[in-house]
Amino acid sequence: MRKFPFLIVAGSFTAVIAAGAGAWHFFGPTGAQTSAKADKGELTTASIDARASKSNATEPPPRVQAVAAAPTAASIPAAPAVEKRPTIAKPVCNNPNALGVSRTVQIDTTGGPGLGLSQYRDYDFLQPGEVVLTFDDGPWPVSTPAVLAALSAQCVQAVFFPIGKHATWHPAILKQVIAAGHTVGSHTWSHKNLASRPAQEATDEIEKGISAVSMMAGTPIAPFFRFPQLRQTPELKAHLAERNIATFSIDIDSQDFKIHKPDALVTSVMTQLKKKGKGIILLHDLHKWSAAAVPEILNQLKAGGYKVVFIRAKDTLTTLPDYDAMVAAEVQPAKTSSNARPISSVVQNVE
Ligand SMILES: [Zn+2]
Repeated sequence: MRKFPFLIVAGSFTAVIAAGAGAWHFFGPTGAQTSAKADKGELTTASIDARASKSNATEPPPRVQAVAAAPTAASIPAAPAVEKRPTIAKPVCNNPNALGVSRTVQIDTTGGPGLGLSQYRDYDFLQPGEVVLTFDDGPWPVSTPAVLAALSAQCVQAVFFPIGKHATWHPAILKQVIAAGHTVGSHTWSHKNLASRPAQEATDEIEKGISAVSMMAGTPIAPFFRFPQLRQTPELKAHLAERNIATFSIDIDSQDFKIHKPDALVTSVMTQLKKKGKGIILLHDLHKWSAAAVPEILNQLKAGGYKVVFIRAKDTLTTLPDYDAMVAAEVQPAKTSSNARPISSVVQNVE
């Protein structure tokens, strides 16, 4: 029934695993469009911090595992059968003075741990001076490729949280993110504030987003999720826990939803970072001003002696068939009616 290439890839991938070939896997995003207006309600750092005390304190113990700095394909040992990530060679770095990735950590998402101290305090895994770069709301023409180019120039890798609809609009851009070896999670189907929606609608938004990003990526994605505007509910957090999906919050909000000048954005990020000393940084690859700020942010991170930590998942995320079907139905081209006559009998050149 399903005609999407990713399903074929997933099938052959399963076969590889079954053969005991110990595959490793990476994930990728795809693209499409949601209005930039959708982000006007993103939280400010202050409001996120205000909510932090209410966050769940009963997370299952997570396992944040240090991984030898970005392994090359040749150095990756045969993985246990539970590891489902495919082998992806470390991107070639041609810049000897690049910022680079100082270490890569792998997250076991069993039980749905939360990361990012603004909302989740259980897993404080970053050392002083360490940052994680995250980009939400892509994939988007021009701005996402610009972010990818800036990251590549400094040989750093990041975590992307694409929107499902955007992925269906711009799948080729999502595939570029994946091909560059970045981690790709998801960020709902259409970026609604899930805390203000009925539970079923909110769950549908999460799962449809996962199916859309996976389908457009053409490969399984990471079990990483970020709530739009960071607005969660206990019921939705429980759903993610049941699905073994880690939730990402933030430590440093660039505030690029309201700061539209690249220079001011750089100052916003670096000032907050200086104050907190480390953390998960939120930017949006949807915005051209954010993309324009990334090169200088990376320059200043290097100049300031900060270290970039890359996060990847231990396992990939399995989509739910019902939601795959929903997304597939939406991206099918419109069908012609069965009783249509040949074009030449209806439309004729007469002059
Ligand atoms: Zn967002």
